[in-house]
Amino acid sequence: MKKYRGVFLKNEREIGLLREANRMVALILDELGRQVRPGLSTMACEEIVQKMCAEFKVKPGFQGLYGYPYALCCAVNEVIVHGFPSEECVLKEGDIVSFDMGVVYQGMNGDAARTFMIGEVSDEAARLVRVTEESLALGVAEARPGNDLYAISEAVQRHAEGAGFHVVRRFVGHGVGASLHEKPEVPNFVPAGRPGPPLKVGMVLAIEPMITVGTPEVEILDDKWTAVTKDRSLAAHWEHSVAILPDGPHILDLP
Ligand code: MG
Repeated sequence: MKKYRGVFLKNEREIGLLREANRMVALILDELGRQVRPGLSTMACEEIVQKMCAEFKVKPGFQGLYGYPYALCCAVNEVIVHGFPSEECVLKEGDIVSFDMGVVYQGMNGDAARTFMIGEVSDEAARLVRVTEESLALGVAEARPGNDLYAISEAVQRHAEGAGFHVVRRFVGHGVGASLHEKPEVPNFVPAGRPGPPLKVGMVLAIEPMITVGTPEVEILDDKWTAVTKDRSLAAHWEHSVAILPDGPHILDLP
């Protein structure tokens, strides 16, 4: 695989495999979106993911990676990312839940996340979910050759903060390919020092805004994984894996 400044540039065949891996992730997230309702436990969501991975004959991408025990990350309300599925965690009317998951298909990783609303949610929760999704779309639109990487970051940050929300800095997006987490980091805020690294054809980036109503500061719970907002305010998380091609960004996690 070719590299540019330490970043893998994928060829057409590799992007084809990444598209297939991410297509499966999109199908699984679609199914979770159909199934989520008040009364469903997040462990039941994990079981849906496990069953579909088995049907597709793919390995869950997160399970076992860095010691993470499950296929699915479930982030309910104040959880930002990396929440464990649990029998005790039962979704209820008014919750928001982000599902983040990946698969490995022929050695290539799919990775995507969406936030779902359970029944009727507060206006603020609905606005947070919508603005986070819009921030992702605006960031994706900047993922084109000729731009610098921080054009993505700036688009996400401007939209989220413009709506009065906050951007988590502790976690960032990333390159994705044969490894789930590759170079470069894709922050959802503009770090010091523009321009950032140039975007090149063949880069595949997981762009994933994590946006909060209150403080964007993170606390990690005793399980060493679950990341919550320090003030327990709501957080939302959306993620696409995006290939940078000559004509611009291509979202890979489409059904
Ligand atoms: Mg990711």
